[in-house]
Amino acid sequence: MSETPSNGRPKIAFFDFASCEGCQLTVVDSLQTHLDLLNAVEIVQFREAMTEKGEDYQIAFIEGSCTREADEARLLEIREQADVVVALGACAHLGGVNALKNLHPLEDTRRWVYGDKADWYGTYEARPIGAVIEVDLAIPGCPIDREEFVRVVKAVLIGKTPPIPDYPVCVECKLKENVCLFDIGKFCLGPVVRAGCDAICPTYGDGCEGCRGFIPHPNQNAMKDVLAKAGLTVEEVMSRMTMFNTYQLQEQLVEEEGR
Ligand code: SF4
Ligand code: SF4
Ligand code: SF4
Repeated sequence: MSETPSNGRPKIAFFDFASCEGCQLTVVDSLQTHLDLLNAVEIVQFREAMTEKGEDYQIAFIEGSCTREADEARLLEIREQADVVVALGACAHLGGVNALKNLHPLEDTRRWVYGDKADWYGTYEARPIGAVIEVDLAIPGCPIDREEFVRVVKAVLIGKTPPIPDYPVCVECKLKENVCLFDIGKFCLGPVVRAGCDAICPTYGDGCEGCRGFIPHPNQNAMKDVLAKAGLTVEEVMSRMTMFNTYQLQEQLVEEEGR
């Protein structure tokens, strides 16, 4: 547990695991235009933005997936120290694109990535950080939304539950009066995916691929049927469903097989 800050400003730290660091860059971008937030906290560790490395913090933001045994000890240390742990972005929240490797034999992916140096690098199946430590909340998205990051931090600082939507992207899409992509022969996971991105992909003509994760109790089978009826093959349906949510779909399969 951390010490109570003497200046009244909660100490915050940012950590990265397997990721592209795009969510941390979004944080840097976001803080540049929210100096009020910067003044309300003390950032003690943020490799992307500073060289200092304080180990005393109350709130930990973690970007990236757990992809190797060495990650587990580091995650446990962070959990031990922080009062609040926040998963930052789809890699940490869902496993994200990293978990696509779980669809292939581990040896194959190691050789594809590291070639003849594969034995130098330990790795195993990618998991969200919530599979290793308790996570208090998640900021979804790939990358996170800069304004949602600010809203979540402000809510955490005043001890409120952050306003993360639990309804589907379709709600935001309809509010924007977009023509549904299914009506013009395209495909979209909007009916089963968590809103909060202002339906940005469908608004610009791209089907949602689920970077914010599934809504609670999504009817994935109905969604698969809709996609299949719209002309996608099983492989195409699965390639859309697994882009960010491979870990969740595999866990669900294991659960169903165990029933
Ligand atoms: S969620 Fe997306 S943007 Fe964020 S670290 Fe992962 S791959 Fe990068
Ligand atoms: S385009 Fe996608 S998000 Fe928009 S209404 Fe259609 S299915 Fe829903
Ligand atoms: S529309 Fe879907 S894929 Fe695009 S940002 Fe929103 S949740 Fe992510």
